[in-house]
Amino acid sequence: MDFTALAPSHVRAIAPYQPGKPISEVARELGLKESDIIKLASNENPLGCGERAKQAMREAIRDIHLYPDGNGYALKQALAHRFKLPLDAIVLGNGSNDLLEYLAMAFLTQESSAVYSQHCFAVYPLAAQARGAHGIKVPAKDYGHDLDAMLEAIRADTRIVFIANPNNPTGTFVPYAELKAFLARVSQAVIVVLDEAYNEFLPEELRTDTVAWLKQFPNLVLTRTFAKIYGLAGLRIGYMLGNAQICDMVNRVRAPFNVNSIAQAAALAALDDIEFVRRSHANNLAGMAQLSEGCRKLKLEFIPSVANFLTIRVGDGQAVFQKLLKQGVIVRPTGGPYEMPEHLRVTIGLPQENARFLEALQLALKA
Ligand code: PMP
Repeated sequence: MDFTALAPSHVRAIAPYQPGKPISEVARELGLKESDIIKLASNENPLGCGERAKQAMREAIRDIHLYPDGNGYALKQALAHRFKLPLDAIVLGNGSNDLLEYLAMAFLTQESSAVYSQHCFAVYPLAAQARGAHGIKVPAKDYGHDLDAMLEAIRADTRIVFIANPNNPTGTFVPYAELKAFLARVSQAVIVVLDEAYNEFLPEELRTDTVAWLKQFPNLVLTRTFAKIYGLAGLRIGYMLGNAQICDMVNRVRAPFNVNSIAQAAALAALDDIEFVRRSHANNLAGMAQLSEGCRKLKLEFIPSVANFLTIRVGDGQAVFQKLLKQGVIVRPTGGPYEMPEHLRVTIGLPQENARFLEALQLALKA
């Protein structure tokens, strides 16, 4: 029996998401010691997670035999307070990835389409494809979103437009004035998912209050995560903010206990750990300067980034990736669905990790 034949053709056509390689796998494959390997491949926080979140996790273990709060009341209450939104404008996800999937599940069908950019986060096309929806990929402009072209690409059957700001894997940023002008022109019958997974890494001068836009643009949805600046990637927790009716539809397809109790407790504590967020932000800015300077010395082009990673043009991305792996440095190749085979994406690490990456890169390029 060929069980794959039982799946619809649009599911069979999916090329699975390729995550960053875990340290343990690289150690096994290359016979290296785990402690000698650095992973700068998945945009994780090199400072780990904050003490407050750790303490909250220890305490939450006591009640681990109980199901989590399926409505995430305490965390949603804290988010509602922070963003001055009602509880029904917030949905929690098992990572913000979960919410991207639920949005697709709630609003896309084989009769509809989703619009996204070339070089976008790989989950948007995957989420659309899993519903059999038509994915419309709009060519990028200078590696970033071409909002005019995206507006043009919207069809009568388009239900969702995905925009990541900053974008992964390019680190590019759409200025907020342009984004707002785009929102003013998009039909309200199209949901604009603004994926702000890297929002907290923005430099002060670029920031704006996108949450305040939700009133003006009821078709806007924001997704954010505790995986990046809050350092809780392994727990899987994120949230979306948006119109109550959109949240209602997402809640109807959401698994009843999609966010575990330890994640809820840790996220609640992390939200208030302003000092940890501040340190993470500062480390990132310094690391970005260190890596940019290193690339300039090596005469390598890179895409200016406002996220927690830098995407560098190295020539044969896959070959350099392998040479870095052999030296125990894991980064992310950006070929395949990302369509940047000459680049590699490196996550900002600790100062010593960035230095080690740059040394390894220099060697890899010589070899
Ligand atoms: N959006 C973007 C743009 C991302 O890069 C990521 C993580 N790689 C996510 C969403 C999902 O993050 P998480 O599920 O960990 O919240």
